[in-house]
Amino acid sequence: MSEEHDIRTANPESTFDWGRRLGTLVEPGLVVGLIGELGAGKTQFVKGVCAGALVPSDEMISSPTFVLIHEYQGRLPIYHFDTYRLPSAAAFAGLGVDEYFEGDGVCLVEWADRFVECLPDEWLEIRFVHRGPTERSLQFSCRGSRWSGLLEKLIAPPTP
Ligand code: ADP
Ligand code: MG
Repeated sequence: MSEEHDIRTANPESTFDWGRRLGTLVEPGLVVGLIGELGAGKTQFVKGVCAGALVPSDEMISSPTFVLIHEYQGRLPIYHFDTYRLPSAAAFAGLGVDEYFEGDGVCLVEWADRFVECLPDEWLEIRFVHRGPTERSLQFSCRGSRWSGLLEKLIAPPTP
């Protein structure tokens, strides 16, 4: 695993904003694994990614909560796997996830640590850790090297 970058966010808006930043950078084939307990901010971050990738905001509001795979159309397709209720890795694989991973969009997988064996060799890992009532750590690292350039761009301070 690559070097880890630890970002602190002080409120939900800041987590959204880091997601939005990633959303401006995402490319077809990217798989992002979102790891962290309930309420850690994974979905908040996903909403930001969608905003950054130009998904119309009304498309997000209309998506039902019981759906396991949300598909959003921004400047590229975004597949959001909301796997909280999935019992096993086999059930996850049974959704046909490989086709999504090899497709033309971006895949965002909540609870990715439960399904690591189903993920491709190269993915971007983000761990969400509670640090206080409205504070979180976002810990970014790369599995494999394919996405390390994208991660560097995300972390790099904006050029003046
Ligand atoms: P998860 O998908 O990890 O279960 P959600 O994104 O659905 O979590 O919910 C996170 C909750 O925590 C939201 O109610 C949000 O308002 C709250 N929250 C408080 N501080 C933060 C923060 N810094 N980043 C993200 N969410 C935060
Ligand atoms: Mg969630």
